[in-house]
Order: sequence, then structure tokens, then C-alpha cells
Amino acid sequence: MTEQRVAIVTGAARGIGAGVARRLAHDGLALAVLDLEESASNLVAEEIVSGGGRAIGIGTDVSDEQAVAHAVTRVVAELGPPTVLINNAGIIRDNLLFKMTTDDWDAVLNVHLRGAFLMTRAVQAHMTKAKWGRIVNLSSTSALGNRGQANYAAAKAGVQGFTKTLAIELGKYGITANAIAPGFIETEMTQATAKRVGVAFEDLKENATKVIPVARTGRPEDIAHAASFFVSEAAGFVSGQVLYVAGGPQG
Ligand code: NAP
Repeated sequence: MTEQRVAIVTGAARGIGAGVARRLAHDGLALAVLDLEESASNLVAEEIVSGGGRAIGIGTDVSDEQAVAHAVTRVVAELGPPTVLINNAGIIRDNLLFKMTTDDWDAVLNVHLRGAFLMTRAVQAHMTKAKWGRIVNLSSTSALGNRGQANYAAAKAGVQGFTKTLAIELGKYGITANAIAPGFIETEMTQATAKRVGVAFEDLKENATKVIPVARTGRPEDIAHAASFFVSEAAGFVSGQVLYVAGGPQG
């Protein structure tokens, strides 16, 4: 039997990250479930373990350099060297530019971009040593521009440039880096958007559905399926790509 791969998924206590963690566990990987709250991370990890998988929950703020180093050390000690990294943790602080505070800008850039940078830099040593690795970063259709999301759009466009650069630098070590850019996915993030604009979540979904070619909104499993492909052993010649998973064409 080949050795079990160890994956880290950030922001994995709920939403897309939890969906990706469950799917990778189902695919046979050992999972480190990272999120701000260790107790919330543990719930997803326990679910994976009770389903017969291997998983641990770790509380970590991905934008904190020391916390990231500590988390990766724990993963190595408790599961083994990580060679799969899903940079999924994210927040929104939406507002029109003239009302956007510097804190709103910094908070979003810190979690999405600084967080992905710190996590990737900490994990790449294990990947290059293993001469194998899979990095999947969560971008968004908002990378193409979205009203009220100057901070988030800039971060998600930045994630795409970051991903392509990782693919170029790390390819020779057997490491691929790809980005998934979801459209509307039903999670607490889109529920928060509904609340902010004062619309019932069901109405927001219905409006979104009208302009989505496959005539439905997305679910975490839709993104998990794409992540599973990028992480798979056979996907080693697919790198530096941005896959829009949005129920129709984008861009
Ligand atoms: P979500 O339901 O809000 O989940 C995000 C998770 O990330 C939460 O558990 C959150 O923890 C965690 N998190 C936030 N800041 C963190 C930090 N500094 N360190 C570690 N974890 C942190 O969001 P989602 O909808 O699943 O989104 C997941 C990713 O997909 C994000 O990168 C998002 O931008 C992207 N995306 C989502 C959509 C969509 O329609 N939902 C579309 C395109 C892209 P707390 O609960 O403690 O805050």
C-alpha cells in the first residue's frame, strides 16, 4: 500500500472548506482541519474519524505567522508531512469604495493573500522534500470585478497571480498549483451577503439562479469535486490553471 497523503484545508470548520475536507477524506487522505476555533475544527475532524478516516482539528489564524508555523509543526507530528494544501480560509468586508475602511481592506487582504502566502511557504518545504505536492487556492468570480468588493476582488485576483507563480516555481519538484474560482455557493458567506443587502437568502438564491446557465446555485460539494480532481495523483500535468466553477462561463 502506498503511504497515505496528508492534506491541510484552511477555513475548514464549515462551508466550502468543510466540504473539501470531507471529500478528500473520502478520497483516502488524512486531514488537518484548520480554522480559527479549534472546537469548531474538531467537530469536522471527529465526523471524518467516525466515518473511518484520519483527521485532526487545529485552531489557527492563517494570517498569523507564528500560529501558522505552530499549526504545520503539529500536522507533521500528529499526521505526518503535509503534501496537499487547500488555501480556503476567507472573509468578506463588503462596502462601496468610498465607505470602505482601511481596516476592511487590510482584514480581507490579510486572510486571503497573506494567509495563503504564509501557509504555502510553511508547507512547501514538505512538498519539495517529498518531490510531490498539490496546492489548491480558492479564488472567486469576484476576481473579475464585483460592486462593493474592491478588497475581496483584489485579493481573489491576487490569488490567481500567486497560484500561477507557485506553478512556475514549484513545478520541477512535482508540485502543482491551481485555483478554483467559485460562483454563488450556498454557505454562511452568501447568507451573510443576503443579510447585508437586506434580502432573504431564498430570494438571493432565486435571483442568482436566473443568471446561472445551469439554473441552480452551487453547493460546497461542487467545489469539493473540483478540488478532488486537482489533488488527484493523475492530475500532475495540470498546473497554473484557474477553474471557474460557477454553473456557466465567466470572464
Ligand atoms: P464561510 O462559510 O464564511 O467559511 C469560511 C471559513 O474560514 C470559516 O469557518 C471562518 O472561520 C474561516 N476563517 C476566516 N478567517 C480565518 C482565518 N484568519 N484563519 C483561519 N480560518 C479563517 O465561507 P465559504 O463560503 O465556505 O468560503 C470559502 C472560500 O471560498 C473563501 O475563500 C471564499 O472567499 C471562497 N468563495 C466563496 C464563494 C461563495 O459563494 N460562498 C464564492 C467564491 C469564493 P469563522 O467561522 O470562525 O469566521
